Amino acid sequence: MESNQIEQQKQQISQLEAQVASLKAQLEDALTTAGAQGGRRKKIEEMSAEVIDSNPYSRLMALKRMGIVENYARIRDFSVIVVGMGGVGSVAAEMLTRCGIGKLIMFDYDKVEIANMNRLFFRPDQAGMTKTAAAEQTLRDINPDVDFEAHTYDITSIDNWAHFLDRLSKGGKNGQSVDLVLGCVDNFEARVAVNKLGQSWMESGVSEDAVSGHIQFIIPGETACYECAPPLLVASGINEKSLKREGVCAASLPTTMGAVAAMLVQNTLKYLLGFGEVSYYLGYNAMTDYFPRYAMKPNAECDNKDCVKRQEEYKAKLAAAPKVEQKKQEEPAKPKHETNEWGITVVDDEDEEEEVQVPVAKAQEALPDGLVRSFDAAKLDVKAGDIVQTDDALNLDDLAAQLKGLSS
Ligand SMILES: [Zn+2]
Repeated sequence: MESNQIEQQKQQISQLEAQVASLKAQLEDALTTAGAQGGRRKKIEEMSAEVIDSNPYSRLMALKRMGIVENYARIRDFSVIVVGMGGVGSVAAEMLTRCGIGKLIMFDYDKVEIANMNRLFFRPDQAGMTKTAAAEQTLRDINPDVDFEAHTYDITSIDNWAHFLDRLSKGGKNGQSVDLVLGCVDNFEARVAVNKLGQSWMESGVSEDAVSGHIQFIIPGETACYECAPPLLVASGINEKSLKREGVCAASLPTTMGAVAAMLVQNTLKYLLGFGEVSYYLGYNAMTDYFPRYAMKPNAECDNKDCVKRQEEYKAKLAAAPKVEQKKQEEPAKPKHETNEWGITVVDDEDEEEEVQVPVAKAQEALPDGLVRSFDAAKLDVKAGDIVQTDDALNLDDLAAQLKGLSS
């Protein structure tokens, strides 16, 4: 063997040795990070408020000490269904998992694609897996205390409908019905299917141009249902499938989807744990950062006959026992923070939530044929004559005297 050949082999050996050392270090690093349970922490029997680094619930349980939630640990009694594990549903599922929801039942029939990577939650190495399997994999690692159930099918198909209804009525904790359904689907058909359940559910959606979205809490008979006024971009009388053309896809942003998922889960937490005010309709227009919020009355001429029936039932119930206005949460007597080093003050929002009739969808430019946008950013068109002059110097007695003068 010639000496330069030996020299080459020596070099190769030292290169290989360096590679082995690097791989060894990576492996050790991975094993240390994963810990003794192979990457998954042990289940925790009871939620504790103890402030230690190893408690995954200390920050959530602190909501009680801050006077926000009376009993946070109750979250373990609740079960939620998420229909559609796309850009909104998967993020909503992760938020609920991190919050320690009792049970999460997921439905989706799609697979993870590399084209989904502009959104949150799924990873490139999960491409090709079903969204349900990939989600379960990730979520179990994040919080093994949650009971997970995942079903890989289209809920709108007749074959699956009976099973879906079964999970709805018996899939909750201890075989009870689930507490809430979150609709995170991307098509009209599936939304109408969930709407037909005749149970309280929260709908969500993001527009095809990726810059607006909304959530809607639907209580049959009491608030507008999905068919009373489909709130987002929908096909106006034309076949939805015809909108999907080869080489053309809807736009999506992780920001808008994350914001809508957060709005949806925040509303869910408020509803389940009883804090703050639950929103019936909350929109988000990213172009102007406009968040319209209102309660929508059901449409007496709704296409969904069950909805009309439930409206009659609700009216009868209301006539028999008028609904007591829910008392707004009282301001705490003491400030929640002892010190306020930045001098932050809170501006009171005096605007009462308005109840509006179902808005009439308005056609707009720059949208494909057959699509309408459900809301526009508020435009203020104030004329000089509309402005009312007020005088702070006047007291109540002065005003009363003026009123008397007017009426006499
Ligand atoms: Zn309706």
